[in-house]
Amino acid sequence: MRRKVIAGNWKMNKNVDESAMLINELKDRLKDIADGIEVVLCPPITSLGIGSQLLRASRLKLGAQNMHFEDEGAFTGEVSGRMLKSIGCEYVILGHSERRTYFHESDEIINRKVKKALASGLKPIVCVGETLDERERGLTEVVVTKQVKGVLEGIPLEDIRRLVIAYEPVWAIGTGKNATPQQANEVHKLIRSLISKMYDRAAADGLIIQYGGSVKPENAADLLGQPDIDGALVGGASLQADSFAKIIEAALL
Ligand code: PEP
Repeated sequence: MRRKVIAGNWKMNKNVDESAMLINELKDRLKDIADGIEVVLCPPITSLGIGSQLLRASRLKLGAQNMHFEDEGAFTGEVSGRMLKSIGCEYVILGHSERRTYFHESDEIINRKVKKALASGLKPIVCVGETLDERERGLTEVVVTKQVKGVLEGIPLEDIRRLVIAYEPVWAIGTGKNATPQQANEVHKLIRSLISKMYDRAAADGLIIQYGGSVKPENAADLLGQPDIDGALVGGASLQADSFAKIIEAALL
C-alpha cells in the first residue's frame, strides 16, 4: 500500500479545553495506527501549544492552518513559519480556498508562503482546486494547472518530497457534495503528470496528493481506494473523534 497522509483541518473551531479533549480521544482511538498512515491534526492557532504538549509522545503530528511569508516584523495578527516550528508544528496548510476567497491570497502569495514554510523546516500542505463555475465551464484542468505551476514556482526538486498537494474542489468543501472517486482521481492524475513534467517521474510517484471536500466515513474508502489519491484533507468530519478515526481506518481498507 502507498503511504497515506490524512489531515484534519479544524478551521476556527474548538477552544483550548475542547481541543485537548478531542486530541486525547484521538490519541486513544488511533494508538495502534498502521505505519503507512500519517495523521496530522491542524487545530486553531490558540490550541497549538496544548496540541504540542499532548502529542509529544504520539505518532500523530501537529499542523497549522496558515502562516505569513516573512520570518518576523510589523505584521499585526500574523505568525511565521519559524514560530510554528518552534511550537512543535511539522505541517502547515497553505492556500486553502477559504484563505484564497476571504483573505485574497493569490498563487503568488501562496508561493512565497510555501518557500518560507520549507525554509522554516515545515511541510506545506498546499491546496488547489476549481470553483463550481470553473468546473461547469470545463476549466478544471486549466485552473488546476495554473495553480500548481503558480504555487510551486521556483521550488527545487529536493523540496518537492517534503510537500503535500491537496486537491480540494471548492464546490465540494463544506457542502456535503463530494467529487466522485473517479472525478477526483482524474484530477489527481493530472497533477501527478504535471509534476512529472515539471520535475521528474520519481518526484511525481513519491508525491502525496490528498483529496479534500466533504470526506466522510461513508465515502472515505471509495475515495482513498483510488490509485492516485494518497490521503485526505478533512474539515467538518475531523471535528469528532469517531468520524475522523473512521476515515483513517478506511484508508487501511
Ligand atoms: C476543508 O476545509 O479543507 C474541507 C475539505 O472541508 P470539508 O471536509 O468540511 O468539506
